[in-house]
Amino acid sequence: MPSIKLLPDQLISQIAAGEVVERPASALKEILENSLDAGSTDIAVVLQSGGIKQMRVSDNGCGIAREELQLALTRHATSKIASLEDLESVASLGFRGEALASIAAISRAQLISAHASEKHAWRITSEGSFITEIEPAALDAGTLVDIQDLYFNTPARRKFLKTENTEFGHCEETFRRIALSRPDVSFLLQHNGRATMRLAAAEAQKRFEDVLGKEFAAKAFYLDESAAGLRFWGMAAKPTFSRHARDTQYVYVNGRFVRDKLISHAIRQAYQDVLHHDRHPVFVLFLELDPALVDVNVHPSKTEVRFRDGQSVHRFIFHALNKVLAAPVGIASSLAP
Ligand code: ADP
Ligand code: MG
Repeated sequence: MPSIKLLPDQLISQIAAGEVVERPASALKEILENSLDAGSTDIAVVLQSGGIKQMRVSDNGCGIAREELQLALTRHATSKIASLEDLESVASLGFRGEALASIAAISRAQLISAHASEKHAWRITSEGSFITEIEPAALDAGTLVDIQDLYFNTPARRKFLKTENTEFGHCEETFRRIALSRPDVSFLLQHNGRATMRLAAAEAQKRFEDVLGKEFAAKAFYLDESAAGLRFWGMAAKPTFSRHARDTQYVYVNGRFVRDKLISHAIRQAYQDVLHHDRHPVFVLFLELDPALVDVNVHPSKTEVRFRDGQSVHRFIFHALNKVLAAPVGIASSLAP
């Protein structure tokens, strides 16, 4: 047996990258979440070749000061939590401090950022975790993250990627999930030189319509229920607007897109009597509750959550949705002249 050795930092980042940057869309999710955490109201995404060749995200957030640029690319360096108490009440989307380090470990990365404390912007360039340069740059406000050749440093992973179109499809879906969660932010998505989605900041219902379509908006209920510190709101399609696949279902817990068995089950149960079992409803729904009552630190991609009191969450969601679905609006409208 060889002797036990500590792994070098870059190798640790490359291993972590396997999880954090499973595909270009996972990198995009992390970069977009950083922009939102920085308080941005305007975010533009420019992709080349499904995000593999280039992924450029610019925002108008708070920016990063020069002396922190290198830390931003360092593993386990974060501005979002400092203690266990912070972790228990975390309100930001990120907190692990490993996304940028992992992305940088396997790509050629550039960060340009303008921070209020600096006279001008600064650029940091890195190649596979190796910082090559920190120099003055031109940028009016916010941060520009430019990732080129994602996976150039992990050729094995590159082989597992699907076609550029498939990877772009995943990026688009990631973009949609985030755009649905923040109607107050304007977003642009461009792929191979063509703008594919342009979303102006709007009221929630308008954003849902912009992303999910006019037909959905016309055939969906708006609901907003609160009880005992829980709030459940959003839009859920009437049974007349359903799908063969379960691909148009968006659930968020405290602003975070999740796939949660308990919530899905409560929603399915609410639709049970009004929808044929092989049809799937379309919805975009938000659960809001005290961060201390939900654990988001279950998995690095953070799409899993755990509730302290799952049963009452289940009951609350079922009733909130059942109320609008069971309401006899169909009869009322059919009686109308
Ligand atoms: P985390 O988001 O978990 O803190 P990241 O590796 O994603 O870790 O980012 C590291 C740090 O870099 C963040 O904590 C934040 O301070 C800074 N940062 C990253 N992206 C941006 C951005 N777009 N605007 C401002 N600061 C950013
Ligand atoms: Mg982050």
